Amino acid sequence: MRIEEDVKLGFKDVLIRPKRSTLKSRSQVDLTRNFTFKNSGKVWTGIPLIASNMDTVGTFRMVRVLSSFHVLTAVHKYYSYTHWKNFVCSISETLLKYVVVSTGMSENDFIKLKKIFSLSSKLQYICIDVANGYTEQFVAFLKRVREYFSDKIICAGNVVTGEMVEELILSGADIVKVGIGSGSVCTTRVKTAIGYPQLSAIIECSDAAHGLGGQIISDGGCIVSGDIAKAFGGGSDFVMLGGMLAGHDECEGQIIEENHKQYMIFYGMSSKSAMDRYIGGVARYKAAEGKSVKLLFRGTVDKTIRDILGGLRSTCTYVGASSLKELTKRTTFIKVTEQENQVFN
Ligand code: 5GP
Repeated sequence: MRIEEDVKLGFKDVLIRPKRSTLKSRSQVDLTRNFTFKNSGKVWTGIPLIASNMDTVGTFRMVRVLSSFHVLTAVHKYYSYTHWKNFVCSISETLLKYVVVSTGMSENDFIKLKKIFSLSSKLQYICIDVANGYTEQFVAFLKRVREYFSDKIICAGNVVTGEMVEELILSGADIVKVGIGSGSVCTTRVKTAIGYPQLSAIIECSDAAHGLGGQIISDGGCIVSGDIAKAFGGGSDFVMLGGMLAGHDECEGQIIEENHKQYMIFYGMSSKSAMDRYIGGVARYKAAEGKSVKLLFRGTVDKTIRDILGGLRSTCTYVGASSLKELTKRTTFIKVTEQENQVFN
């Protein structure tokens, strides 16, 4: 039996040290990034935040709002081909660069993926998403998708360790999705004991990816915009958000009313609620690895995304980074035992 002695860090364990800065205003900070991807050779410019491909967050309505901020939406895999067809016909082609098409790894998923991509050559992102990105079957599926979609940007995950990031990049992924057990409605760590504190996963996996010319997405665990800044500061190229974008108008969650207040139901994609909805319940050999929560309804996502982008610009000014790209280089984390002052919470 082996124990790794160095303590792995989550967002709650650090803060970022301020640095001298020549920036005069937050408006001078550019959050746009330009990437040229390793395997597809594709170029993409935008703000590297992604709405998670959960069925209540990665919706077509979310695309319409977030694309106006140049932010990506990973559209969930439960829309039918007909839904996709209607959507692609109804949206300006230029906005399709902010759309990520999610897929599982069954034969039917592959067939549907090919049909969706035949709708428009402007669709360019594929996200092959599984809870456990460590299986041989997953790597084989990734290779197959890369062979067929040689010029599309492929994201694949989830994993949390450098050696698997390398394997996925060498098997055709442009971007590796990093995070196991960190999500807001995830119960994997309690059910299975598997997981990796998100900040350390980012630091280790981005190092592995960048060494090969690949990129990573930090997926899960951001609760406030400061966490997003820590994810970018730690080396993440993209950050995926579920809970922070849940509970809005653009989400397709069930709304309930209690004591004159409106709530929206938000659940994990491996929760009983999701399995009941999509695969007819939890199979006898499985346990649910997600939970269902009730969020205070928050109105349109427009305000939330502005708040997040404002927070990120402010982080950049505190460390003297004139662009998001510089944030990693200018980040020094300090380990802490306190975060915000909670006296009035
Ligand atoms: P959040 O931003 O809410 O903290 O995390 C979102 C991420 O949690 C998703 O993008 C996905 O990777 C992960 N996730 C979503 N649903 C589940 C679930 O039911 N179980 C687990 N283990 N992870 C989930």
